[in-house]
Amino acid sequence: MLTRLARRGATWAPREGGRLLSGSGTRTLPLQRLQHAAAFSDAARSSVLDNGHGLDEDQIMLQDTARSFAAQEMTPFAEDWDREKTLPEDVLRHAAQLGFAGIFVDPEVGGCGMSRLDGSVIFEELAYACPSTTAYLTIHNMVTRMIDQFASDEQRQRLLPDLCSMDKFASYCLTESGSGSDASSLSTKAELSEDGTEYILNGSKAFISGGGRSDLYLVMARTGGQGPRGISCLAVEKGTPGLSFGAQERKLGWNSQPTCQVFFDDCRVPVENRIGEEGHGFKFAMAGLDGGRLSIATCSIGAAKRCFDLTREYVASRKQFGKSLSENQSIQFKLADMATDLHAARLMVRNAAQMLDAKDPHATAFCAMAKRFATDAGFRICNEALQMHGGYGYLQGNNSPERYVRDVRVHQILEGTNEIMRHIVARNILQLQS
Ligand SMILES: Cc1cc2nc3c(=O)[nH]c(=O)nc-3n(C[C@H](O)[C@H](O)[C@H](O)COP(=O)(O)OP(=O)(O)OC[C@H]3O[C@@H](n4cnc5c(N)ncnc54)[C@H](O)[C@@H]3O)c2cc1C
Repeated sequence: MLTRLARRGATWAPREGGRLLSGSGTRTLPLQRLQHAAAFSDAARSSVLDNGHGLDEDQIMLQDTARSFAAQEMTPFAEDWDREKTLPEDVLRHAAQLGFAGIFVDPEVGGCGMSRLDGSVIFEELAYACPSTTAYLTIHNMVTRMIDQFASDEQRQRLLPDLCSMDKFASYCLTESGSGSDASSLSTKAELSEDGTEYILNGSKAFISGGGRSDLYLVMARTGGQGPRGISCLAVEKGTPGLSFGAQERKLGWNSQPTCQVFFDDCRVPVENRIGEEGHGFKFAMAGLDGGRLSIATCSIGAAKRCFDLTREYVASRKQFGKSLSENQSIQFKLADMATDLHAARLMVRNAAQMLDAKDPHATAFCAMAKRFATDAGFRICNEALQMHGGYGYLQGNNSPERYVRDVRVHQILEGTNEIMRHIVARNILQLQS
């Protein structure tokens, strides 16, 4: 049953006592936790709510492992992380020991070499517990994947092992205060030094997830003329003179991860830290976002599933007018619609994930469709769940949809707004040039 995971160089081989072997070391999950996950699965897998439907045996095991991890290490603490605005670094490093920080990276440099579909299975379970922390992990995985895909062998060997173990954290830096949706108009400038050994970076990036905390910043900067072909990709390490950070942004949600502006003031970056050729940076950034959008969409799905489960229990137990809320047909129909939308969103994301893995020429548009649909549906479901909890849904607490509503709202905005997703889909339909 585990052969495929083992073949992929990744990770989970159960041992006596429930030990799970990971690519970067061993991690112990007590056997009873695994049994709990199995029992949970048996119950949940008896209805249309089964999110293991269509997965193979290895993926079911991966799902159970991620679910167990999330239930033990994330769910009980997520509300505190939100309230205290804490990035749970140790938990992320534990997740990395299970392979969750280099999911799409070659095992030779510390990753798991798994598929986009596998990644979506993992992120759904983690986001069920904490969409905000999981979303940061997806961005970290987007960066590790970009480096694995586009960097030189020397750079991969140098940068990836520490990122896959989360000894180092990573951020993706595209957006600027003057260039959001129109990302290719960015103006952060990287000029070669006279001796040609360094780029001198000047400008700033806005809204950077992990900003101030991350150890490595993958920065898109202009090395040439206007437009996408003048943009290159540089890996800027924390501690580089001239690199500094703005104040932490105050946000509606995503409180368990930091967000801030990143400034470059004559920041000298060695030429060896340029990823790929000059002028290829925008292409890399867009390729990263195809997968990133699926991961963010998956975070919405995980959040929506948690809100749905909370609501299903709540309406069965809450009595008004002498009967359970769930005895009202209008409530039953809402649940049916929520479950249908959730299923549709998951199918779209998993289908787009397979398209991306298969390098389908229309994968970008399928990813955009899936991101738009799943993040809209996810927000709707979480918000509907809040409404069905009445006033209690508006209160904070570990079993309230409130935090989820705040966390998933931004998924409709970042990694390309949902309007820009429509633009990408329309361009594909009408066969327009960008
Ligand atoms: C919490 C958070 C974390 C983020 N993390 C990162 C990160 O880690 N790295 C990073 O690089 N960026 C990050 N971002 C930035 C994010 O990707 C941008 O906010 C997003 O791409 C939108 O850009 P903008 O905010 O400048 O909005 P704008 O581009 O100014 O858009 C404003 C509105 O106009 C609409 N619009 C724009 N152009 C069109 C058009 N042609 N047709 C129709 N409507 C249009 C948009 O859809 C939007 O509704 C983050 C943002 C947030 C809020």
